[in-house]
Amino acid sequence: MEARVGDVALGSGHPIRIQSMAKTDTRDVRATLDQCIRSFEAGADYMRIGIPDMASVHCLKIIRTQLAAAGFHHPLVADIHYKPELATESARIAQKIRINPGNYGTPMPPFSLRKTGQGPVDEDENLFYRLKPLIDICKEYGTAIRIGTNAGSLPARYLDRYGKTPTALVESSIEYLRTFERLGFHNTVVSLKASKPMDMIASCRMMTQRMLETNMLYPMHIGVTEAGFSFRGRIKSALGIISLLKSGIGDTIRVSLSEPPENEIVFAKKITGHLTKHGGKTPVIMPNDDPVAIIRSEATDPDELIIDAITQFINIPSDKVVRNILAEAPMMKDGALERQLARHLMQAAGLNVSDTEFVSCPACARTTVDMNNLIKKVEKRLSGHPGIKIAIMGCMVNGPGEMADADYGLIGNRHGSLNLYKGKKIVRTNLEPDAALNALEHLMTQQ
Ligand code: SF4
Repeated sequence: MEARVGDVALGSGHPIRIQSMAKTDTRDVRATLDQCIRSFEAGADYMRIGIPDMASVHCLKIIRTQLAAAGFHHPLVADIHYKPELATESARIAQKIRINPGNYGTPMPPFSLRKTGQGPVDEDENLFYRLKPLIDICKEYGTAIRIGTNAGSLPARYLDRYGKTPTALVESSIEYLRTFERLGFHNTVVSLKASKPMDMIASCRMMTQRMLETNMLYPMHIGVTEAGFSFRGRIKSALGIISLLKSGIGDTIRVSLSEPPENEIVFAKKITGHLTKHGGKTPVIMPNDDPVAIIRSEATDPDELIIDAITQFINIPSDKVVRNILAEAPMMKDGALERQLARHLMQAAGLNVSDTEFVSCPACARTTVDMNNLIKKVEKRLSGHPGIKIAIMGCMVNGPGEMADADYGLIGNRHGSLNLYKGKKIVRTNLEPDAALNALEHLMTQQ
């Protein structure tokens, strides 16, 4: 099936569409316009904009009008969490709405909290009436909807039943798809995201299988969420996206980086450009006690090196055991990148954990802190702790839920400062960045 986002169709053999998301406060119209325009000029097919409140809905309208006046008629996507009234209003303005089954409206309580025979027990009906107002408006205005399920914000009922597994992501998405179909709505895109590339790959593969079985094969948006930034973030993102695209899964991609949105577009275009030209060689495996995959690349820049190496890495037959990677890129001036690539790729693929695991959200309209500087400082200070996972998140709306199973977290709060978490527990509040970093390091060394 295909979906249509404004004039841009996706799925059913259309080119892979590329998108990003504005990282500005949507009420700052000038800054949001600038990010959208830079992303469109870099090649984005459409842009997503966070809608945390009604003021942002009004600004969305202004942004759309001003973009058109500047000659940019690309579709816009409104990103909604929690508040159905923002979705219904935005659906009259944006060409697509993204909703998250983990937080759209008020679901039924988890199975474990229900008493047999007491109160409403039919979530199907509850969901039908919860979604109907939005679907009615989307039908009227020709607006598409993305069902954007995220491992960090699964519906409680599905967590209760399946735990934090690909099955939970898949089944909660299927439930929404079924309800959309009951409501006669088909202009739908699905996404299932996780911060671990291998989890995201498994979820999307399982979802494709379930969509085939249920005869609801809708276009899929793919990406690794909270991938981080720079070399490491690109490796995680590319591993998830390339693995799926090479197996024919994925109709639109987002490279989520904690960087300006146009950087995401530039890297995403390099991925799709590379895949149309190269099938990727298969690495030679040296059959030692610890078999080594030798990846040779003629790449001349770090992005190409990542993409080429991953395109080769995923060609390793599944019955071959690999315990290490040796990357050789003679055209690269910086030999250290080859070693970094091998290390981060092994870690992203879950084959050899040799460093701290960082997850950081890409930032959006809800962000309350300067993520770019914070992430760089945290990575610089706290690398080298294998087995420890640190999350850096931009807001308290989704940050605590989406910091996944991190051991520690720094999350921007509504005062523009940071709360420090140990696991799911807040241990310090209202810290400035440097104080937060010191407190986090101190907490880690206490263990
Ligand atoms: S966690 Fe980050 S990307 Fe997610 S809603 Fe909050 S600020 Fe936006």
